[in-house]
Amino acid sequence: MAAPSRLKKVRNIGIIAHIDAGKTTVTERILYYTGRSYKIGEVHDGTAVMDWMEQEQERGITITSAVTTCEWKGHQIQLIDTPGHVDFTIEVERSLRVLDGVVAVFCAVGGVEPQSETVWHQADKYGVPKIAFVNKMDRIGADFSQVLEQMKEKLQANPVAIQIPVGRESDFRGVVDLLSQRQIVWKDEALGAEYEYVPIEEALSDQVQEAREELVAQLAEWDDQLMEKYLEGVEITDSELRRTLRRLTLELKVVPVLCGAALRNKGIQPLVDAVVDCLPCPLDVPPVRGIHPVTKETEERLSSDQEPLAALAFKIQMDQGRKLTYTRIYSGKIRAGDVIYNARRGTREKLSRIFRMHANKRERLEEAGAGAIVALMGLKSASTGDTLCDEKRPILLEAIQAYEPVISVA
Ligand code: GDP
Repeated sequence: MAAPSRLKKVRNIGIIAHIDAGKTTVTERILYYTGRSYKIGEVHDGTAVMDWMEQEQERGITITSAVTTCEWKGHQIQLIDTPGHVDFTIEVERSLRVLDGVVAVFCAVGGVEPQSETVWHQADKYGVPKIAFVNKMDRIGADFSQVLEQMKEKLQANPVAIQIPVGRESDFRGVVDLLSQRQIVWKDEALGAEYEYVPIEEALSDQVQEAREELVAQLAEWDDQLMEKYLEGVEITDSELRRTLRRLTLELKVVPVLCGAALRNKGIQPLVDAVVDCLPCPLDVPPVRGIHPVTKETEERLSSDQEPLAALAFKIQMDQGRKLTYTRIYSGKIRAGDVIYNARRGTREKLSRIFRMHANKRERLEEAGAGAIVALMGLKSASTGDTLCDEKRPILLEAIQAYEPVISVA
C-alpha cells in the first residue's frame, strides 16, 4: 500500500510548450493512447480523438482539469496542467512546484521560441528533470537537428537524441530508437494505428551508427565507467545505457530528446515510454522542505506515507458548483472524513471526499498517500498556496515565489 513499490510506478509530469507547438494535441493523444480501453467502437480516421473528446465532454468530464491521471504499462501517469503562456508565470511556477518531471514540446519548424525559454528556465530553477519532444516533423521545414542546436544555444541544455527521424516533412514515416537500435514505423496515420518494429533500413545504417556513437559518447562524458568501456571499445548493453540515461536525466545533466508528429499520431507511444523510463518517480525527488509555522525552523518530509502529512493546495477549481482543491501530497496520508489542518490559515477543516481525476471519469478514493495528486472536496477556506498538514507536526511549505527574470541594464 504505502510501499515504495507503488511510488516507483507513479510519474507526476507536466507538459510545457510554446503556444502552438502542439501541447494540446500531444496531451490528447497521450490520453487517447493510455486510455484505449475507453475507446468507443472502431476508429479509423483522424477525427476520432475529437469525437472521443466531445463524447467525454458531454458526459461532464474534462481534460482541462488541473490534473489528469492515466495508466501506461503498469504505471500511473499524472498529467499536471501547465499554462504555456508567459502571462501565467505564477501559475507555471505553481504547477512546477507540484510536478516531478517535464515533457517540453517544441515545434520542429519554429524550434525553441522565447516563451519556451522562460518556462524552461523556470523548470531549471526548481531542478525539474526534463525530456523533449520535437513535434510537427511532418511540416515543411521540419529540422530535428536544428532544434537540438537551439536547445544548446538558447537553453544551455545538454540534449541527447535518443531517436532519429526517418524521413521528414510529408515523408516523415518513422523513427529509429537509438537505445534498442530498432526502427519504428507507423502503418498509417489513423488514430490507434499501432507501430511496429522493423529492421533498420539499409540506407540509414551509417547514420544510425553515427548517432548511436554520439549518444554513447554524450553519456560517457558524465560517467567514468561508461567512458572506460567506450574508449576501450567494449560493448555497452542497452540496459546499461538506459540506466545511465535515466540517472543523468534525473541529475539534470542531460535531456533525452524524441520526435514525432502528434497530429498524425506518430511518436506518442515511444514518448510515454520515455516518460516512464527517464522521468522521476516521487521517491527520486529530494524531500520537501518548509518551515515550522511557529519556531520558523526548517522542516523536511520524506516522500513516505509514514511521515506526518504535508500537502500543498495548488489550484482551486469549481466543478458542478462544488469547490475542488487540487492538492499534492508530499508525505503522509489523508482519508475521506479527516479533519485537516491548514498551516497558513491556522484553521481546521473536514475533508469530505477525495477524487482522482481521469480523462473520462472521477474516481472516488477512500484515502491517498505520498506522491498522490488529488482533488479534495469539503475544504471551504483553503486557497491556492496553502499547506495542509498534521496539526501536531505542522509545516509551512515554501511559499511560491514570483519568477524574477534577470534584467540586464546596458
Ligand atoms: P498548443 O497551442 O501548444 O496547445 O498547440 P495545439 O496542440 O493546439 O496545436 C497547434 C496547431 O498545430 C493545431 O492546428 C494543430 O492541429 C497543429 N499540430 C499539432 N501537432 C501537429 C503535428 O504533429 N503536425 C502538424 N502538421 N500540425 C500539428
